[in-house]
Amino acid sequence: MTTRDIFIGGQWRQGGGALMQSHFPADGSLNATLHAASLEDLEQAVAAGDRAWRDPAWRDTLPHQRAAILHRVADLINARIETLAEMQSRDNGKPLAEARGLVASAASTARYFAAACELLEGELPTPRIPQVITLSGYEPLGVVAAITPWNSPIASEMQKIAPAIAAGNAAILKPAEATPLMALELAKLFEEAGLPAGLLSVLPGKGSVIGDALARHPKVRKISFTGGTSTGRHLAHVAAEKLIPASLELGGKSPTIVLEDANLEQAARGICYGIFSSAGQACIAGSRLFVHQSVYAPLMARLLELTRGLRVGHPFDAATHVGPLINEGHRQRVMEYVALAQREGGRVLCGGEIPPDPALADGSYFQPTIIDGLSNGARACQEEIFGPVLVAMPFEDEAGLIAQANDSVFGLAAGIWSRDSGRALRLASRLEVGTVWINTYKVFSISTPFGGFKESGLGREKGIQGLKAWMQQKSVYLATGSDVNHWSDNKKGVQ
Ligand code: ADP
Repeated sequence: MTTRDIFIGGQWRQGGGALMQSHFPADGSLNATLHAASLEDLEQAVAAGDRAWRDPAWRDTLPHQRAAILHRVADLINARIETLAEMQSRDNGKPLAEARGLVASAASTARYFAAACELLEGELPTPRIPQVITLSGYEPLGVVAAITPWNSPIASEMQKIAPAIAAGNAAILKPAEATPLMALELAKLFEEAGLPAGLLSVLPGKGSVIGDALARHPKVRKISFTGGTSTGRHLAHVAAEKLIPASLELGGKSPTIVLEDANLEQAARGICYGIFSSAGQACIAGSRLFVHQSVYAPLMARLLELTRGLRVGHPFDAATHVGPLINEGHRQRVMEYVALAQREGGRVLCGGEIPPDPALADGSYFQPTIIDGLSNGARACQEEIFGPVLVAMPFEDEAGLIAQANDSVFGLAAGIWSRDSGRALRLASRLEVGTVWINTYKVFSISTPFGGFKESGLGREKGIQGLKAWMQQKSVYLATGSDVNHWSDNKKGVQ
């Protein structure tokens, strides 16, 4: 059987680790077989990265020269949107239309960080010492690790690799076990765009083996992770031991809130998209719905109508709204949560089952599901399901709403639907979350910082801050005259 090569220190070759496979979640067919990276491969990738980022040929590149590589990557992506989107769909089952959007966003991300690194400015702080000026600028960290999940590979991987490279680092990417293909394809694009060897390596394999060893490696100077909260907590411990920065984008259980003055049609559409796109496999999925009791009945009626109209189907079918879940194991987990919600007293208003369509029998599909009758303390309202499952709850007053919305270990995002934007903004300021959408949901801008409060994460990606997060600041004091440091001649006392 032919196996895919992996990318280590600028070389394509077979990984030295265990055999692993990528399957198409729509029908379980095999996409590719490859060998995971071994610990020896990791050593080589780190050594190559460490040489490459220190090499004057790279270290002395000017920002616009690094930007040119990122622009070429963006051009290559845009020229291959269809192929890349199909690859992404095959790797994780996303409907093609969504995958196209993610591919296009990856190109924009590369361009944004190309621009950001050209525009990044150091500081010339106002002088505080006679005859001394201070300068403060940004430098790369060195070899850095990017560990990514399976739900939106090309977008989440570019969100880490583009700023890491723009900042002048050498990046080592560890993609999720289920979705190794897009990360390898990205490496091809960076290579074709002229990125010098060693500055990007891709090490597929098990998180607990190669991901853990990558994070722990003494030469790795930053961990950027997107994934589950328990893995994030583990990586925070690793980073604490090494005293290196960790950027952690973790889980969520995001509330979407419909106030009594909302445009109900707009709200129902936004809520439907916010929870059921990507089959709910999104950290920012709006999975807890709070609706003012005075509009609960009409909002729910419209939301149920829209949800029943969603088409669950093959990712390559243009009419599909909801594709398969990533694999059978994950579908089982989602189904267990629906059963748990019922045991907790929840009523399934729609969905809750595997679709009966025989054409979908080989894929890990699950119907979009809405449950009510639960209180916010139920496990189905507190734990991340990461599937197409929405729990709806009526609320009476704003104080109770805020208490319930914030009663979660998570704090990733929230949605508010109201015609009164002043009131919505006041409410937004009371929610303990990193992103609030008002009268929209799950739309993203690469120029806007993203990250979580509480157990949803640490640090921010995107925006100028998302570039600085891959750099360290160095301050320089420069004497402009000789009338300084007179300590030894005892003339001016200690300075
Ligand atoms: P998800 O629930 O999204 O799969 P995980 O946290 O399990 O979230 O996985 C996200 C990424 O983290 C994957 O690339 C996975 O291989 C990696 N990972 C899992 N466990 C570890 C670990 N102990 N150390 C480093 N990386 C890990």
